[in-house]
Amino acid sequence: MLFLDDPPPKLVGIARLAASSDVLEAKRQVEYLELETRRFIGRGSGRMSSIYTVNPYRGCEFGCKYCYARYAHEFMELRDPELFERKIYAKQFQSAAFRAELRRLKSGDTVWMGTATDPYQPAERRFQVTRQMLEAFADERGLDIGVTTKSDLVARDAALMVRIARKNRIRVHLTITTLDERLARLLEPRAPRPELRMGAVRTLSQAGIAVSVLAHPVMPLINDSEASLDGVCEAAVRNGATSFSAAPLFLKPCAAKVFLPFLEQRFPHLVRRYRERFEKSAYLKGHYPEMIAERVEKIRTRHKIADRQTPEWPMADQLELFALYSAK
Ligand code: SF4
Repeated sequence: MLFLDDPPPKLVGIARLAASSDVLEAKRQVEYLELETRRFIGRGSGRMSSIYTVNPYRGCEFGCKYCYARYAHEFMELRDPELFERKIYAKQFQSAAFRAELRRLKSGDTVWMGTATDPYQPAERRFQVTRQMLEAFADERGLDIGVTTKSDLVARDAALMVRIARKNRIRVHLTITTLDERLARLLEPRAPRPELRMGAVRTLSQAGIAVSVLAHPVMPLINDSEASLDGVCEAAVRNGATSFSAAPLFLKPCAAKVFLPFLEQRFPHLVRRYRERFEKSAYLKGHYPEMIAERVEKIRTRHKIADRQTPEWPMADQLELFALYSAK
């Protein structure tokens, strides 16, 4: 890591217990609700019009500090950005309605699960909406399905995905921003540890499912060193992933509301630089994104791994898709 002089000590003994009690306390504040849904499958527009989106949950308990999806709760008049991670809505699953929507898709269509919120967040253990949707996908054919998650719970569905893959294409994208457990706990407080996510890469790959590892977002002076990105890529390859990618952070106002106070608390020496860089635009421009692209390409070449095998899908388009989905 570039932002501290010394590597952080591993949490052991009582320090580890204290850290996990913070997580348990936060978990106690989470409220789960069910949400009636008119449509389960959303659709992009313009050059993204062939992409369909599925998000079984609104809100996400993982609470990543950089999460840009928080503003979705504002559509429901939930303006405190923290409510995004404390009030979780599971879509009330109706198998017949979902299957009817699926039948309207054409062979070759791309359907992406988890464009807005994580389909394998803890609510999935209780509601199993993602699982039920995948059961329906297993009866379809010819679809190109992507699943994006930060949770090792996805490995639960390995056998089901194998069934889906007999008649469709399916690829799982595991987001792993760092292998540093302590840093991951700061950035993604209630997401499974990187080691567990890497375990899911292995389980799925061994089952024959195509897996990509995404080291998004790359945050300047936090997880952007060559050593950090190389470590994630190397572990991804070792565990069977077939593609790797990493793109710089973008900071929409809804994400900045949480991310900048987080920086002030945990990385105060970076606040001024982040404010300057993101003041005029949510996107990093100029030399930095080019440098990261070159760095990632070099790492991919070193480990002989492909770029993500997905339709090109920049973050801005994800937001566009998300807005469409949220408006439904
Ligand atoms: S896992 Fe994704 S949706 Fe959930 S908080 Fe993190 S970035 Fe947001």
